[in-house]
This record gives sequence, C-alpha cells and structure tokens, in this order.
Amino acid sequence: MTDVDIPFAGSNLDRATAVRVDPDALAAALASAQARFVPVWRQRCLVDKTGACLPTAAELGTASPGADDAILLGRRDDQWLFAAELEASHEPVLAPGQVFAELREVMGELPAADAALVAYARAMVNWRGHHRHCGVCGAPNQAQEAGFVMACTSSACGHRSFPRLDPAVIVLVHRGDECLLGRQPTWPDGRYSTIAGFIEPGESLEDAVRREVAEETNVRVGACRYFASQPWPFPAALMIGFHAEASTSEIRLNDGELADARWLTREQIGAREVTLPPRTSVAFRLIETWFDAGGTTLRELGIEGPPLKLRR
Ligand SMILES: [Zn+2]
Repeated sequence: MTDVDIPFAGSNLDRATAVRVDPDALAAALASAQARFVPVWRQRCLVDKTGACLPTAAELGTASPGADDAILLGRRDDQWLFAAELEASHEPVLAPGQVFAELREVMGELPAADAALVAYARAMVNWRGHHRHCGVCGAPNQAQEAGFVMACTSSACGHRSFPRLDPAVIVLVHRGDECLLGRQPTWPDGRYSTIAGFIEPGESLEDAVRREVAEETNVRVGACRYFASQPWPFPAALMIGFHAEASTSEIRLNDGELADARWLTREQIGAREVTLPPRTSVAFRLIETWFDAGGTTLRELGIEGPPLKLRR
C-alpha cells in the first residue's frame, strides 16, 4: 500500500546521492546561495509557527558546517539541504519566534514535508554521534561521502560504517469484529495501542510479527498483510506496519512488556472505552484502517487520537 499518509514518510526530497561521492559538486552545493541548513541542537529541531526553519550559512555564522562535517540531505525545489549539528554546550542565539523543539512534541503540527525533513536530519546527526570511533579497532572515524560514511582513520583497519536503521514490526491483530490492543505501563492512563517490537537477526518480518504477538500476549496469528511503514527517528527505528489475523484468542501477558492487553470491539472503540495512540503514529493508522472497514469511520465519530501540542 503506498497511498497512506504517514508522518515522517514522503519527504519528496531528491537525495542527490551522486553528489555525495563528487567532492566538487558537494563543495559547489555547500557554497551555493541556495544552500540551507537543518540545525539540530541536543537532538532538537529549529521551528517557528510556520514550520521548520532553514537558515543560510550566513545566518548560522560560525555554527555553519564545513565540507568535512556537512551532511547532505538532498535537494528540495532549488535548495540544497544540509543537516547542521550545533555544539551541545553552546546555547544557540535564536531569531524572534524560533525555538529548538523536541520533534515528538511538534511533529503533529509541522507541515508533512518539514516533519520528514527534520526527522531525517535528526536521525543522521544522531547516527554520526554514535560512530565517532571505529567499532572494530576503536580509532577515530572520519566522515566521508557527505556524512553518509564514517570511515576508520587507521590504515590498518579502514572499516566503514553506514547509517543504520533498527527495523521494528508494528501490528494490529484482529479477529472478526475485535482487535487486540495492549498498554505499556508508562503510557498515559487509558491509552491502548498496537503490538510492536524489534526484528531479530534471522527473522523475516512475518516471523517477527508472530513472535512479538505471542511473546507479549500469547495470541497466535496466521495471515499477515503489510500495510505501510514509517521512519521513526527516536533514535533510528523504521516501523513496518502489518494487519494480522488471530488464530487463537486467549490472552496471557507473557514477557512483562505490557501492563494489560484486551480484545476490543468496534463498538467499544467507538464508545471511547480506551484512548487511541496519537494520530501521528502508524499505530493509529493501522487501527483506523481496520475500524473504518466496519462501515462507520473514526473520523465520523470524531476520534482522531490525542492531539499533540506545540510547546512554545
Ligand atoms: Zn578501525
């Protein structure tokens, strides 16, 4: 399925991958009057009332990255977009109306393309921050290919690290008119959501769906159907959404990850017996798609998941 509107997906960015390995083209892009920067400070992103702020090199001043540490995100319209990591110890000077915001808190209010762009920048900066040194020999790493390779500076080693993702499955299990939702102990009171977990080496996506559901709830699932995926840069997940059909119904909380799990009918969800996850999550879209297939839509009932407030 490709026509689902998922936050952080569909940035419509030309990633300009050929420029990463062309030092002259990279230098020209960085020096261009069309270069814009996505500042990341303490994992926070620069926003104002209208969306993501994209300062020029002059506006960033000394915080502007050089060719060695600029991360080329790609090209949007006529702009070259780079991630710029600001030094954590220095409080940046902001223009009026701008704020460094935690992405989770503002993602619901940013224009979709901006949310995808700053999520991408944050993920790249975070990955680089975790690869300052070689994981094989411990020597310092050096950025290459516009920030997409961290290469070991030891000539005896030469190990290269590439941006990593942590793929996770997220699944709405259903059986007839009921779906299976669980709640984690740290969530706000009354919130229930889909089952999720990281994929382990040696597993297919479907294997991971079956294992996670069985581990967390004891429910067995049969057929799984891919729904949509969502970059989830907290810090590096890719959420891969599935609908899955249950073949058993007895719930037993097995691994202690969930505080509760319940079968809920469409009527119970429509009557707001539980609070659904934020609408910015693929979890909400999984529940919504299943629910709406029953005839009445969540939107018609005014159920859109809790809104996220922009903290200013
Ligand atoms: Zn090394």
